[in-house]
Amino acid sequence: MTGKDEIIEKLLKGEIKLHEIEKFTDNVREAVDIRRGFAEKISNTHLEHLSNYSLDLEEALKRNIENPIGTVQIPVGLAGPLKIRGEHADGDFYVPLATSEGALVASVSRGFSVISEAGGATVRISGDKMTRAPVIKTSSVVKALKIKDWIGEHFKELKKAAEVTTRHGKLLKIDPVIVVGRYLYPRFVFTTGDSMGMNMVTIATEAALNLLTHKTGAHVVALSGNLCVDKKPSTLNLIEGRGKSLVAEIVIPRKMVEKKLKTTPEAIVEVNTAKNLIGSAISGSMGFNAHYANMIGAIFLATGQDEAHIVEGSLGITTAEMEDGDLYFSVTLPDVPLATIGGGTRLETARECLEIMGVSGTGKVGKFAEIVAGTVLAGELSLMGALAAGHLARAHKELGRG
Ligand code: NAP
Repeated sequence: MTGKDEIIEKLLKGEIKLHEIEKFTDNVREAVDIRRGFAEKISNTHLEHLSNYSLDLEEALKRNIENPIGTVQIPVGLAGPLKIRGEHADGDFYVPLATSEGALVASVSRGFSVISEAGGATVRISGDKMTRAPVIKTSSVVKALKIKDWIGEHFKELKKAAEVTTRHGKLLKIDPVIVVGRYLYPRFVFTTGDSMGMNMVTIATEAALNLLTHKTGAHVVALSGNLCVDKKPSTLNLIEGRGKSLVAEIVIPRKMVEKKLKTTPEAIVEVNTAKNLIGSAISGSMGFNAHYANMIGAIFLATGQDEAHIVEGSLGITTAEMEDGDLYFSVTLPDVPLATIGGGTRLETARECLEIMGVSGTGKVGKFAEIVAGTVLAGELSLMGALAAGHLARAHKELGRG
């Protein structure tokens, strides 16, 4: 019996735990193989494809994953070129999309083609922040309100305490500060440079809270009190924004809508009103759009973003209007946490995908954000065009039969 088999035996008997394998070997790849060997044994399978990878799991083990057994592969397609006229991204871009949904890359490519021919998407970043909101318990409503005042009066000291922990994180404000009974929910709002910033702002907020609890005697129940709002759909994020808040717009000449999308501006406007606005309203949906999550998800998976934030990126409103017989079309995404540094962006495949767009590393997150906005605009336009064309086809059939 080899050393590898012995360790798997011990795992099967419960004598050692999955996270303890690295204690028996200095070679991370071997530890990964042993853990996967255990998974094969308990499931009576051969995990050939999980075992084929080129990522440096030794590096990943330091900050991206625990108990690794290999990697999952997702097909990556390339869409482009997309013409963008932004403040950070100005030119033509190719965008890698990781997905297993057939037709998504083709659909986004169709949108790119329409947008580029129409002169390019105008894109802007309308907000930039990352938030952490703890929940604090006090002895009474009166005390809670006093601490709320204290926070306002001592913002400068709290900011100083928070910013000691980071070179790039800057505390912009603590707002809103919500009092519920004797609980207090202060929302710490930061800018975080090129990182998405959740680790950064969590560490910085904890440092500020140490000062607050020391000076006021308040008790921190939890570092996150869900007013952040992290990884959940939320009206607060929809209104206040979180991560990058993005807007993108385009005017498409009627002839181009007819030729390339096989429909009319009027039909797209009607589908948008009936589906994205009224349909979303009656269903209580927070996403007044057709499928932002498709484009956000595919870019996030390709570029090593935190995939749980796709739920936040799915929020937003699509508008479609007539403009002198042409189509005005826009997407607004208030809550897109993005990074070109930190988190999963250092994984080799993520970095390569960021490099395709020229947005890997320092000073690139604004450009990346604008490319994301343009990509969502394209995917949304393409699907809305397809729906409108289907609607018209049905209408023609029904009307044609009298
Ligand atoms: P991070 O990788 O922990 O931090 C970013 C690091 O990059 C910081 O050490 C920062 O240094 C440094 N840095 C260097 N150049 C930078 C630049 N130009 N701009 C910004 N930072 C720069 O990542 P994070 O963005 O703070 O957090 C993302 C990770 O948090 C993801 O892996 C995500 O899954 C995870 N996450 C954590 C929580 C949580 O509650 N902790 C919640 C959700 C997600 P300085 O700090 O000195 O500036």
